Amino acid sequence: MGHLQPRVKLSFCIFIAAARVRLLHYLMATTSPLPCVRLLATGGTIAGAQTEGRGYAAATISVEALLAAVPELNSLATIEVEQVARIGSQDMDDTVWLQLAARAQAALDDPAIAGVVITHGTDTMEETAYFLNLALKSTKPVVLVGAMRPATAISPDGPMNLYNAVAVAIDPVASDRGVLVVTNDEIHFAREVSKTNTTQVGTFKSPNRGLAGLVNRGRLHFFGPTVRRHTVTSEFAPVAATELPRVDIIYAHAGLRRDLIDAAVSAGARGLVIAGVGAGNLSTGALAACADAVRSGVLVVRSSRTGGGVVERNIEINDDKHGLIVAEELNPQKARVLLMLGLGRGLDAAAIQARFMIY
Ligand code: GLU
Repeated sequence: MGHLQPRVKLSFCIFIAAARVRLLHYLMATTSPLPCVRLLATGGTIAGAQTEGRGYAAATISVEALLAAVPELNSLATIEVEQVARIGSQDMDDTVWLQLAARAQAALDDPAIAGVVITHGTDTMEETAYFLNLALKSTKPVVLVGAMRPATAISPDGPMNLYNAVAVAIDPVASDRGVLVVTNDEIHFAREVSKTNTTQVGTFKSPNRGLAGLVNRGRLHFFGPTVRRHTVTSEFAPVAATELPRVDIIYAHAGLRRDLIDAAVSAGARGLVIAGVGAGNLSTGALAACADAVRSGVLVVRSSRTGGGVVERNIEINDDKHGLIVAEELNPQKARVLLMLGLGRGLDAAAIQARFMIY
């Protein structure tokens, strides 16, 4: 190169150096191992297929087939699959929750695992998410994902939801935010999210505190941290119970009689959640039944059937007098989860009321 001008020599050297850097990046991208995600499958519509007419059956498609529909995942993560259950989430119960928590905790404790993705039906996804939010001890991302349209539908939403869920599970920016729910390009906190529509893909909303963030084809945008205790700061994690106490939900309405409350107590419920009208109200007769339930040692929480807002103590109902607990922001199905965990720890009404202020 002795005959070249110094400027040409310099440009040539810069070109070679840049090419080396590009080659190095390419080699690193193609040879460095991908992050590893443990996918725990439970069923739901994301693994559902259409049947005759307009029907469909949840939990009929294997996880392998779900993953095969999203080949783009191969360049995102290595995915280890474990089928924990194969159910529509209407059949989710505390037995499966405890199995799922144990399998998720084992994955989170494995240093090779970057995060956990759980495929789940959407009907009770918010309850499972909130249970795990309080039951798992780890800062690693845990993401629940589902779909509103079965895998065989026109324009299924599952494949993109799954891709986004894995993207969230491997991103360190999703760490220490509690359990997350990813659907419809949105990220929700377990505590806030609720299913609000029977069929639409945008069914999940976080009515009181809003979205955790967005995820656009795998790129994350978080809007803020979650405000309440979860996972590593939860006193219920890691969950060690082998069963959870029975807690029933009573749905209030105009003309609610006391019979269902009495029946739940007779059937052995250790706790009741009232899905109250408005700010957690219930009829005079039903309130008397709740006060009797408390006197017999059953813990009673007032929540709201409205889908948003706060149920505060001692506004229209004298909670102090009747020994009642208020759910604050938790909807009835999540209030039930916290009451089960509190009862399982042997906490009394005052202690559980305090937990509704911090979880
Ligand atoms: N009932 C089914 C379930 O929750 C279907 C709802 C869904 O997954 O979207 O598993």
